[in-house]
Amino acid sequence: MTAPVRLVWLRNDLRLTDNPALAHACRDEASVVLVVTLTPETWEAHGESAARMGLWRDQLESLQSERERLRLPLKVLRLKRFDDCPKALTELARTLNATEICFNYEYPLNERQRDGAVCAEAEKAGIATRAFHGELIIPPGQVLTGQGGPFKVYTPFSNAWRKRLIDFDQPVLAVPQPRHHRACESDPIPEDLDYTALSYRNDLWPVGEEAISERLNRFVRERVQDYAKKRDFPRTDPDAEGTSRLSPYLTIGALSPRQCMAALRAQCDDPDWLNSSWLNELIWREFYRHLLVAFPGLSRLEPFRPEVEARISWLGEDAAFDAWCRGETGFPIVDAAMKQLLETGWMHNRLRMVVASYLTKLLRVDWRRGADFFMRHLIDADFASNLGGWQWSSSVGADAAPYFRIFNPQTQGEKFDPEGTFVAHWLPELRALTPHKRRQQPGAGAQAGRPEPIIDYRQARQAALNDYQS
Ligand code: FAD
Repeated sequence: MTAPVRLVWLRNDLRLTDNPALAHACRDEASVVLVVTLTPETWEAHGESAARMGLWRDQLESLQSERERLRLPLKVLRLKRFDDCPKALTELARTLNATEICFNYEYPLNERQRDGAVCAEAEKAGIATRAFHGELIIPPGQVLTGQGGPFKVYTPFSNAWRKRLIDFDQPVLAVPQPRHHRACESDPIPEDLDYTALSYRNDLWPVGEEAISERLNRFVRERVQDYAKKRDFPRTDPDAEGTSRLSPYLTIGALSPRQCMAALRAQCDDPDWLNSSWLNELIWREFYRHLLVAFPGLSRLEPFRPEVEARISWLGEDAAFDAWCRGETGFPIVDAAMKQLLETGWMHNRLRMVVASYLTKLLRVDWRRGADFFMRHLIDADFASNLGGWQWSSSVGADAAPYFRIFNPQTQGEKFDPEGTFVAHWLPELRALTPHKRRQQPGAGAQAGRPEPIIDYRQARQAALNDYQS
């Protein structure tokens, strides 16, 4: 009797370690074939970040040698559209005589609908499908209120999440060792994916499971202790930053949240690791994914709190939005953050909050435009976390910042970049000024060749408050 064949459809789970779909497929005498679907036209139409796609491609490439050692062939399906996945995957499964297609869930609505269509098509052809929750520590729908509904507020969610962890506390899955091998040619991974320059700073984001695991382990060894103290300060030297800079890897699934949690636990002697503030951030990531599944309107970019959004009159001013996109607002901390994003695909969490508050509250530009811009540029562009971050910042989200919380860009600069080092790095015109002058608004920056501030902060703040209170 020939061994059954299983297809593992890799998407944003580009890892061999702790990959539940792959572990399931390799669990017995089956032979396993990996498959990726490339839909560059859809990515481009949806404005996928080229930096993120570049990282994704290079991470896929980095799996080659280990994949070959395990004799796991890789098939590459280059498709015109997202909607071509069901037929193409079913056809491939038929050609290989595969009996099962396995994958790890993705949670935005489009992806869930696509996966539903793949399952329906495969099942019509008599091919089974199995899906797993590899992107979360606790699957959606498993952290519920006493009444059995989804949480809408973070703190009770995180408390319930910690309690529920006992039921989902599994060790990290090892790299599987398939026992049977099917002679099937692998396809080459295209260099360019026919997509806009897939460039990103690969010196900042090395790929490969070893390099990523080294980054994780170094962070928990050397920096997690001081995380709460240092996490709010953006730095020009990535090694000096207080946060882990692991989100790009989590986003493409080169690293799993369970691997992060296991590394944290192994490092902390403290039995109180469950209350670590770094774990708290991983739980925010889980919260936003749970919300996405519980409230499908979020995937359609509906606000979580429509009653708040109804009070806001978004201004459709393209000139102000363009100035924000280019980092030319005349507000140093905002502009420096946007320049960093444009050049490296990265922005520190504190600065994401500052620029998002600036755009949505002071310029009163619809949060969807900012979210879309981030999705096109961030190397860690992630639908759920980005949506959560933008809705939080504009006060229309679940457990969002209250409407009257409007970051003052000057004070934020003074607090989190006290020497003006970050600002001077990204806005070289300001280097000759003293730290105090670098942060001053208005005036000093303009004299040094930077644009005049495009708004008067106090007036814009008052106008926003009037609007939100109306
Ligand atoms: P660390 O501080 O080391 O945290 C560890 C991990 O926890 C992160 O890698 C990330 O996966 C998760 N995490 C941390 N903070 C948050 C948060 N607030 N919400 C959800 N998860 C979090 N994160 C993305 O991964 N992709 C995005 O597209 C994204 N867009 C954002 C947009 C806005 C407007 C805001 C305010 C936040 C956004 N975030 C996004 C959340 C956060 O800024 C990043 O996850 C964080 O900066 C990543 O840096 P780090 O890996 O060093 O995080």
